[in-house]
Amino acid sequence: MHNEKKPKVVIIGGGFGGIELGKSLKNAPVDILMLDKHNHHTFQPLLYQVAIGAIEADSVGFPIRRIFTKQENFKFLLTEVTRIHPSENKVITAN
Ligand SMILES: Cc1cc2nc3c(=O)[nH]c(=O)nc-3n(C[C@H](O)[C@H](O)[C@H](O)COP(=O)(O)OP(=O)(O)OC[C@H]3O[C@@H](n4cnc5c(N)ncnc54)[C@H](O)[C@@H]3O)c2cc1C
Repeated sequence: MHNEKKPKVVIIGGGFGGIELGKSLKNAPVDILMLDKHNHHTFQPLLYQVAIGAIEADSVGFPIRRIFTKQENFKFLLTEVTRIHPSENKVITAN
């Protein structure tokens, strides 16, 4: 459950970096909001197998929300980040 009093961590991108960061904060006293323009994580090392027809495309794509199903301090929003204003602590999205 997200709590207004906890610091919010915004993770932009559910790639390898974002997924690992999100998991590592599972027990941290923060609320996580992950933003990604796709709703799935792509396992890039196996993309060539898709290209040669050895495996199906859905074998390298994993729904981001499902990866964090059991993580209560995690929320996901499907959107593209268009701008970041670090000095104002603001992330601007296409939404
Ligand atoms: C074909 C291929 C094979 C590879 N094989 C290997 C390998 O065998 N071993 C290895 O160690 N590495 C491999 N790599 C490299 C590895 O996949 C990358 O280093 C790694 O994915 C980078 O992780 P990342 O989290 O920085 O970015 P990514 O995994 O690229 O994730 C970035 C995420 O951010 C999202 N995003 C980007 N811009 C925005 C935006 N403006 N708004 C919202 N969301 C956004 C994207 O949708 C994506 O989900 C391979 C890469 C490729 C392409």
